[in-house]
Amino acid sequence: MANHGCVDWQFSGSDAAKEAAAASLGTYTSEIFSLCDPQGKPILPSLTEEAETSNTAEKAVVKAVLCGTGNAYAPSIGLPVAKRAVAEYLNRDLHNKLTGDDVFMTVGCKQAIELAVKILAKPNANILLPRPGFPWDIVQSIYKNLEVRRYEFIPERNFEIDLDSVREMADENTFAIFIINPHNPNGNYYTEAHLKQVATLARELGIMVISDEVYRWTVFGSNPFVPMGKFSSIVPVVTVGSISKGWIVPGWRTGWLALHDLDGVFRSTKVLKAAKEYLEINSKPPTVIQAAIPTILEKTPKDFFDKRQSFLKNQVDFAYSKLKHIPTLTCYMKPDACTFLWTKLDPLHFVDIKDDHEFCRKLAKEENLVVLPGIAFGQKNWLRHSIDMETPKLEDAFKRLKSFCESHIKI
Ligand SMILES: *Cc1c(COP(=O)(O)O)cnc(C)c1O
Repeated sequence: MANHGCVDWQFSGSDAAKEAAAASLGTYTSEIFSLCDPQGKPILPSLTEEAETSNTAEKAVVKAVLCGTGNAYAPSIGLPVAKRAVAEYLNRDLHNKLTGDDVFMTVGCKQAIELAVKILAKPNANILLPRPGFPWDIVQSIYKNLEVRRYEFIPERNFEIDLDSVREMADENTFAIFIINPHNPNGNYYTEAHLKQVATLARELGIMVISDEVYRWTVFGSNPFVPMGKFSSIVPVVTVGSISKGWIVPGWRTGWLALHDLDGVFRSTKVLKAAKEYLEINSKPPTVIQAAIPTILEKTPKDFFDKRQSFLKNQVDFAYSKLKHIPTLTCYMKPDACTFLWTKLDPLHFVDIKDDHEFCRKLAKEENLVVLPGIAFGQKNWLRHSIDMETPKLEDAFKRLKSFCESHIKI
């Protein structure tokens, strides 16, 4: 037998993604889930039971499989029919129309965010990102060595963007402000007037707006959803999105990036060219899903979204009412969008919990309930509670939360 212990192997794993991976939501999620006891009471939220997608979407994929329309490689920038369908879908709300050439198909919204960061990053550049925010933009920026500056929100004003904080932190090396609309985890979406203010400020600062609209199909407030692309006559806009959240199919890994040009600026600054080059050397979403995209976008009945939205609104109302009886957590705004409650935690109330991360770890261990710590979204001592469960489970989840808080509270 050779003695493997003595060989001086000449290879080792790279640390290049270490810091970026530590900031990823998945890292936090896996840690918290791993603390639950699989032999104990049912883990909430359950990872395996997702709400059903639209039958139209399922049939579209089956048809693409049976007809073989998605069996070949797609062009690196995406299947032309899919690109056109996304452009036409987004055009429903736009004066300045997109064509299929302005759209790139990506592996979910995550790759669209990665694409936006990678094609725009340059040495010494900085980017304005939301705090809190779904952290994929952070992860990619860290990986690209971009300087990240984080703007804030005004909880008392329905979590509008604090435009003064944006103005203060931008300088001559800032190239973009990234917004999430509807916002995960704040659970709001922006009015037309507020978006116009964002566009006007971005123009004044000479930067573009990148808008993550992956949650645009899960709004249940009284205002209509307005896409950022509507203001592309003021400022260049990049929209990123996917079918993951709206159709409840994150595993299908299909999204897009759309360039809303202003006077050809994306061409003259070589952004369009960079996007093509990046996609040339990266993986693409499965052709079979791309082939189904036109049907998914055009034919999914409005009823599917209406039902989903009214379900989520009910669950938000229910969870919000339960939260009132848990005195240690503060919810500034009943959400108008997405699938969470976002609450502020005051660790001073507890005997043996020093911060949000410890709260979530202990909660998982003691109650088999998974709540994510605010720190995973860049904001310490907040919590994100999923409300996307059937009522009996949601009731159980908030009972467990209440009894956990009561057993750790200072008397
Ligand atoms: C879930 C989520 C994404 C990732 O979307 P995928 O299509 O699954 O890659 C991006 N942005 C936000 C705000 C999200 O909540």
